[in-house]
Amino acid sequence: MTPNHNSSRILVWYRNDLRSHDHEPLHRALQENAQIIPLYCLDPRHFQTTPFGFPKTGAFRAQFLRECLLNLRETLQHLGSNLIIRQGKPEHIITKIAQEIKIDKIYYSREITWEETQVERAIRHQVKPLGITVKGFWTSTLIHPDDLPFPLSQIPEIFTQFRQKVEKKWHILPPLPTPQKLPPLPPLESGEIPTLQDLNLEPFPKESKGVLAFQGGEKAGLERLNHYFWQQDALKAYKLTRNGMLGADYSSKFSPWLALGCLSPRFIYGEVKRYETERVKNDSTYWLIFELLWRDYFRFICAKHGNKIFWSSGIQGLKIPWLEDWDLFERWRKGETGYPLVDANMQELLKTGFMSNRGRQNVGSFLTKNLGINWQMGAEWFESMLIDYDVCSNWGNWNYTAGVGNDGRGFRYFNIAKQGKDYDPQGDYVKHWLPMLANLPPHLVHEPWKMTQLEQQLYGVRLGEDYPKPMVDFMASVKQQEKVYSVNH
Ligand SMILES: Cc1cc2nc3c(=O)[nH]c(=O)nc-3n(C[C@H](O)[C@H](O)[C@H](O)COP(=O)(O)OP(=O)(O)OC[C@H]3O[C@@H](n4cnc5c(N)ncnc54)[C@H](O)[C@@H]3O)c2cc1C
Repeated sequence: MTPNHNSSRILVWYRNDLRSHDHEPLHRALQENAQIIPLYCLDPRHFQTTPFGFPKTGAFRAQFLRECLLNLRETLQHLGSNLIIRQGKPEHIITKIAQEIKIDKIYYSREITWEETQVERAIRHQVKPLGITVKGFWTSTLIHPDDLPFPLSQIPEIFTQFRQKVEKKWHILPPLPTPQKLPPLPPLESGEIPTLQDLNLEPFPKESKGVLAFQGGEKAGLERLNHYFWQQDALKAYKLTRNGMLGADYSSKFSPWLALGCLSPRFIYGEVKRYETERVKNDSTYWLIFELLWRDYFRFICAKHGNKIFWSSGIQGLKIPWLEDWDLFERWRKGETGYPLVDANMQELLKTGFMSNRGRQNVGSFLTKNLGINWQMGAEWFESMLIDYDVCSNWGNWNYTAGVGNDGRGFRYFNIAKQGKDYDPQGDYVKHWLPMLANLPPHLVHEPWKMTQLEQQLYGVRLGEDYPKPMVDFMASVKQQEKVYSVNH
């Protein structure tokens, strides 16, 4: 497939769409029989610090991203092309390339939030004098916005209403085919994938206690899907197991690959449909699609509300006087609150860059509904740490958890000890991350503060020394925070 002489040259600017399957920019460029330049830019702005001072992309996600790039490069090389890698702002890099070699068009996957759309605008602005056509494609969601039963500006504020309307007019486009061959590149330096040290990040030891040895890239993402659906046959029980916290297969773990675009949601959908035909169709197969709809929903909500999703008052505009108490926040961040379910989850995040959905809901609730800490600090910490960080899912869920987003049910909190008993009845998860609690019986493991002196001796845990005493009284702190909410609601 060598493009003919007068064919055009299209630069495919890769972002959070690091795959070859179901990739519209690549697909359209191929259809045009163009010469194709696949490019990825490591944008220095992604490696700065957040307003609260955390690395914007922490080491776990940076490593996952490196693996994604390595794999995409291998895939594109295998198809006869390559992934050109540069470090720098995309608007500068792309303009420079376009000044060096003739580029006719730039194709890319559209994003929706401020920083990302600013870059799109900057590229358009910079290459305008060069007469280059710039075209963005929507590649990130299950449902294409054109197939929604309402315009983005009228997305319902309640998820159930959104889902019910969408399900009535269900239309999912089939995934686009993976290219079999790509045209050769014009002469261009391929560029190195930087190491963590190059990015000023500390390499970290692999944590054997993690739920999964997450490996970045399309190949590993497709393998994970194959494992979860076809080898383990785990999809048929997804709805029953998805609230787990321990072990690889309680949930799909697709999120890191979805966040960086290694897996296309439409491809996953197609595989669910195939599973329903070849294996079984039940509540669980439906529920995975249901969860993918939540992902879509937050993206569309971000499109509707713009920057409000990042404001402390959230999309509801609630002026809650959040605390920015670093002592309290640090105890939460390091997993030293004295509430085992919170501490175990925060330890998991700290050591692996991942946390279950159940865990995220509980730690988010504790930070905001017990400690009254500014939820933006939590959201930024997650942004820094999570390997599956997705701007819309993270900030949308934090809005929701903090009570300033899409939740019509007023002040709600998670009863941490009860959640522990319900979802970790034997305490296996908590003991996995907090080995000092290993000898505690199930009735005490989620409420170690109830131990008598004698029990502390018996189980080898001195409260306040081996494991912290609760940093706040649970119900008193909830009541206090509820008052703060109701005054400002
Ligand atoms: C405070 C908070 C922050 C979060 N931050 C992120 C984030 O940055 N990136 C992210 O992908 N998810 C985020 N989530 C959502 C959810 O926790 C993760 O998607 C999920 O834990 C990933 O595990 P999984 O792939 O095994 O999920 P599964 O249960 O297997 O679900 C399948 C897929 O559905 C999507 N999904 C499931 N639940 C949600 C949800 N509540 N919101 C949006 N999508 C969902 C994910 O893409 C997920 O991979 C956050 C949730 C909370 C409460």
